[in-house]
Amino acid sequence: MNNTNLEPWKSSRSESDKDARILRQGRKLFIREFEKQLKELEALLDAIRAMPAVDDLNRFYRIIHTLKGSAPIFHYERIGRLAEDLVRMWEWTQAIDQEQDASFTTTNPVQESVERSVKLLLEMSMEYDIGITEIQMDEQKDQSGGSMLRTLKSRLLLVDDDEVLRSYLTRRLQLDDCIVDEAANVESAIKLLRTHTYDLVTLDLMMHPQSGYELFEYLKEDPTLKWLPLIVLSGRNDLNDKVRCFHLGADDYVTKPFQYEELAARIYGVLKRTKNFEQLAFRDPLTGVFNRRYFDLQIGIELQRIERYPAPISLVFIDIDFFKKINDTYGHHVGDLVLQGLAHLLQVNLRSTDLLARFGGEEFVIALPNTSLEQAHSTMQNILNKVRSNPVAQYEGKTFSITFSAGIAQWQEGMTVADWVSKADEAMYQAKQQGRNRVLGSSSDHEVQQSKRRALPLPEKKNLLIVDDDPILRAILTSHLEHLPIVITHASDGEEALGLLQDKNYDACILDGMMPKLDGFSLLDQIKKDPRLVNSDMKVLMLSGKKKEDDLLKGYQMGAHDYMTKPFSLVELEVRVKKLMNFI
Ligand code: GH3
Ligand code: MG
Ligand code: MG
Repeated sequence: MNNTNLEPWKSSRSESDKDARILRQGRKLFIREFEKQLKELEALLDAIRAMPAVDDLNRFYRIIHTLKGSAPIFHYERIGRLAEDLVRMWEWTQAIDQEQDASFTTTNPVQESVERSVKLLLEMSMEYDIGITEIQMDEQKDQSGGSMLRTLKSRLLLVDDDEVLRSYLTRRLQLDDCIVDEAANVESAIKLLRTHTYDLVTLDLMMHPQSGYELFEYLKEDPTLKWLPLIVLSGRNDLNDKVRCFHLGADDYVTKPFQYEELAARIYGVLKRTKNFEQLAFRDPLTGVFNRRYFDLQIGIELQRIERYPAPISLVFIDIDFFKKINDTYGHHVGDLVLQGLAHLLQVNLRSTDLLARFGGEEFVIALPNTSLEQAHSTMQNILNKVRSNPVAQYEGKTFSITFSAGIAQWQEGMTVADWVSKADEAMYQAKQQGRNRVLGSSSDHEVQQSKRRALPLPEKKNLLIVDDDPILRAILTSHLEHLPIVITHASDGEEALGLLQDKNYDACILDGMMPKLDGFSLLDQIKKDPRLVNSDMKVLMLSGKKKEDDLLKGYQMGAHDYMTKPFSLVELEVRVKKLMNFI
């Protein structure tokens, strides 16, 4: 039987596959040919500059005219447009009397055309560079080709007023799997830095109206951007500039013109080093699992998520049994190997969404999202069974087995992280008391105590809403303000904030001016109009990157009670928040 009849789509699909293959072949041929043409154009331009002979002018014109027609066929639209500009620029040569030497015509704009063509040919060579890279990557698709940068999948911001260079770099970096945003001046760079999180910025120094140095100042003053990796990309090969940039915190300084490969390698180097620092800051060096600092940070984020999308989450506290004996009998080194072995065993038996951290000496904690106490209990019981039956370490031909005691607590509404951890810790302690080598859930009388405690008429906490699209800024504000007797809720844009405001009363709101979807000013406007928002007493502190008096005035007119511009001092912000919430 003939299959094709039963699968009519096949023929059309192979038809378009064929088209694509032909186009790919064509593009390859075009680029190889383009390389030769480009070389010839450059040589001709040199000759014309020295002595504009009619033959050279005609040859030059013929090549650019051909390119203008052929490039778009192979979807090289940019090359086509550049060729079109060149054709327009050299159109006058077609009116020259063919017998006469062009150098004799005094009115022709040879020099001007030559100068402008140098720039266009340079742009063409950038296009060539991109075209040939695409083809090489296509050919090496399944091999491990491309630059090392590809392994990092980073998000970069290019700040440069040279549009040609920017667009070239963007496309080259995209081929290396980077996500790239462009800014032509300091102002739009600041806007982008407020709305996205970048792994690295490249910065041009000579820009208008503000120079690159002003962006440096801005970055330095903002605690959330202070450590953002930055490479200066400058046409100035001046010692003073270099020294000044390094003092201001640049990670590298590259002078133009540069080879893309070198820039990519430098970006890779800086990014890799930064990731290593993160590794140092958030990982436990002995076991490689997260450290307590990371756990504290991440668990707060986890709980915020749960407040918004309620789901069970459990916390496990693990302590190795009689660990001191291992150290005392076999030495500290064996103790270390046991810690590493247990960390590894825990890690491989957990889900990728579970958060494992070394809490202290021989103690580990695990947060298990979407997991009830009962489910966590069975997970941990399985792991304990594995630990019991497999040695966790080997040393000099000897194997070492351990057991552990674990306590589990499921998070309950109103619990702080400290309450939660101590509940799991208490359960672990109970497990030790009952003979170790076991997993215990937090006992029910604990729950009763907890709910009693919750039922006590505690002084009611005030509610603060933080609306800002920058997650780092939200985290910094929260960690700075959470010692106050307040409950902090986050929204990452105006729309989300509006939803929250309809559900609950907030005593105060810190509101970012510039955000995607619904910005701060429009949110203020909506708040005034919306009858469902019952709390008209909510105090609003506008936090904005806009410094202009108009914006300030607009903020106040729209009902803001206070206004601060970014970058701001955290101390000052805290005082203002306290004042707004009547704490002082
Ligand atoms: P229990 O069953 O009651 O938990 O007894 P234990 O011996 O495990 O507990 P104890 O708290 O008495 O001892 C913990 C030991 O862990 C003491 C300390 O020297 C050791 N320790 C802490 N950190 C490290 C480390 O990084 N490496 C090694 N090898 N030992 C560590
Ligand atoms: Mg201990
Ligand atoms: Mg112990």
